[in-house]
Amino acid sequence: MVESGETDWVSRFADEVISEAERRAPGKPVVCASGLSPSGPIHLGNLREVMTPHLVADEIRRRGVECVHLLSWDDYDRFRRVPAGVDPSWAEHIGKPLTSVPAPPGSTHANWAEHFKAPMIAALEELGVEYLGISQTEQYTKGTYREQILLAVRERVRIDAVLSRYRSKQVEEYFPYKPYCDLCERDLTRVTAYDDATTELAYTCECGFGETVRLAEHDRGKLVWKVDWPMRWAYEGVVFEPSGVDHHSPGSAWIVGGQLVGEVFGGQQPIGPMYAFVGITGMAKMSSSKGDVPIPADALEIMEAPVLRWLYARRKPAQSFKIAFDQEIQRLYDEWDALGRKVAEGRAQPAELAAYNRAVSTAAGPLPATPHPVPYRTLASIADITTGDAEQTVRILRDLDAIETLDEARPRLDRAQRWIDGHVPADQRTRVREEPDEELLDSLGPAERESLRLLADGLDDWSLAGLTTLVYGVPKLQAGLPADAEASPELKAAQRAFFALLYKLLVGRDTGPRLPTLLLAVGADRVRKLVGV
Ligand SMILES: [Zn+2]
Repeated sequence: MVESGETDWVSRFADEVISEAERRAPGKPVVCASGLSPSGPIHLGNLREVMTPHLVADEIRRRGVECVHLLSWDDYDRFRRVPAGVDPSWAEHIGKPLTSVPAPPGSTHANWAEHFKAPMIAALEELGVEYLGISQTEQYTKGTYREQILLAVRERVRIDAVLSRYRSKQVEEYFPYKPYCDLCERDLTRVTAYDDATTELAYTCECGFGETVRLAEHDRGKLVWKVDWPMRWAYEGVVFEPSGVDHHSPGSAWIVGGQLVGEVFGGQQPIGPMYAFVGITGMAKMSSSKGDVPIPADALEIMEAPVLRWLYARRKPAQSFKIAFDQEIQRLYDEWDALGRKVAEGRAQPAELAAYNRAVSTAAGPLPATPHPVPYRTLASIADITTGDAEQTVRILRDLDAIETLDEARPRLDRAQRWIDGHVPADQRTRVREEPDEELLDSLGPAERESLRLLADGLDDWSLAGLTTLVYGVPKLQAGLPADAEASPELKAAQRAFFALLYKLLVGRDTGPRLPTLLLAVGADRVRKLVGV
């Protein structure tokens, strides 16, 4: 249970949001909000749009305060362009609502928007994000915002005046509502006349079609974005909604919306921190070959949900960070495991503990965890060396950590396996030698032969700790130093030379996975054979 109070950024926002909600709408559930556009693959970086309000909403729920996290799917937005890799003939759909565009070829989903929503919905489920999804297509086409649309159109001169504070050129006949053409479904329309008394609206479309409708009955159009957003803040009573840096420049939707929400819609702007960019490392090769972008599902392929949650929980929204698909993920997992040990031993600082708890659980309960979490880099090495062979893997895990079935090491084991298979280039994969490198063995001097004999003699302590002590200890023994000797520059050089020799003999290269792990994976008999002892 995370205690209330100033433990971390999440609890500070929760304090602020709860008291603001109590002031704005006493007794009503607190409303936090996110918005996503399913115009194409929803980039992993956009997950922050959902995780930031999720963490705050979750903290509010943990305190026993009713809270709803609205996730608006901006699926009534226009289809802007055909992404690379999709049949160019999709260009004929440009200008239609995303829900009116056919799904990409081969998809089983009803339309373009649903196709790109689906993997995000699955990822949010895995991440334990509880939210209320709202389709803006549904809202607009069933007339939910009728009064708000009529109000915005009535107040168009006032809206235009607000917008004109930020633009240099005057716009003729500003109109905040864009009809979708009744014939071609596209938004290539222009409003040619509007009667405030009757709400009769005339429009023409670039396709040649034109008609006059009554706006009071019209459900095939939407407010322009800069008006739509503040309208929904007021309509939904949103108290917390963060947004990306791109929304915060002068004249941008957040700034303009902040004025329109009060001046036109009689509402208030949410508490809305600006969140910084989330970068991705190590995906470049893969994304360019697949022709698409990293999505949250790609991250969940290689890391468990709590670890991905932790990345968002431990950084304030204004801090940028990177999600690693390269070697860095091993270091991330080391850090995560170290934090887990600190928490278990009661040594974690309050902010660390809060971030940890937010990562492993929500107000609804704990997220699925790996029963027996072996270090990720160890699992990655095992997956690398065994090329995923289940029998070999279970043998190594038994020697290593008394694990009897692979399920005890799952799902972390599967994540490490997928990382090795999907993100480690072939030239960095490890191939254990089948036969000893006789030529190299024959060329060794007496000291090197001695080091290999000491290694082979010490293989009896067949555990990760035992093998770690052994590989660092052999050069000490040879130098006549005690096992607990401080590492001098000479000793370090001797250790490096010894490790390089072992890598050469075992995998035919100068480097490789951590040696103790490599030894465990290779097995004592094969190690003896390859070092010629
Ligand atoms: Zn048309």
